[in-house]
Amino acid sequence: MTGLLNKPMTMDEFRTSLKRHSLKATAQRLAVHEAMMALGHASADMVCDYLASSGSAVKVNTSSVYNILSQLALTGIYRHRLSANNKMYFDVNSARHIHLYDLSTHTFRDLPDDEFSEMVFAKLGRKRFKGFKIENVDVQILVRPTQKSSKK
Ligand SMILES: [Zn+2]
Repeated sequence: MTGLLNKPMTMDEFRTSLKRHSLKATAQRLAVHEAMMALGHASADMVCDYLASSGSAVKVNTSSVYNILSQLALTGIYRHRLSANNKMYFDVNSARHIHLYDLSTHTFRDLPDDEFSEMVFAKLGRKRFKGFKIENVDVQILVRPTQKSSKK
C-alpha cells in the first residue's frame, strides 16, 4: 500500500481539505496547522506554547486550540493519539504509520522505515480474532534513549 509515512499537508492542501469538509480557513485553523507542521505530534498545550513562542499574531487559547485539533481529527485530517502520560496528542500525519514513543520525554516519532511498517501492517492485518473484525492497526513501540548523555 502506498501513502505510508505521508508528509504533512502543505498549507494549500490543508485549505483544500478544510473546504472539502465545509470548514472555513480561519486564521486560527491556519495557525494551528502551521504549528502542527512544525511539531508533528502535539497536545493543545504544545500548540499554544509554539504559537506564543513563534510570535504568531493569531490569538487563540488552549481550549479553542483543543477544539480545532479535535474537529480536524474527527474529519480525518489529523489523528488522535493518547500518550502514556495520559495526554491527548494529535498527529499531523493521518496516513497509517508506526510510532516510536519515547518514555523519557513522552514524545512520539514516526518510524522512518516503510519496509518494516508495510510488513507489520500486512501481517497483523491478516490476523483473525474470533468474533471481531480488524478495524485498524495502530502500532506504538515504547523506547528509551540508549545514550548515557541523555540521562538526567
Ligand atoms: Zn505520527
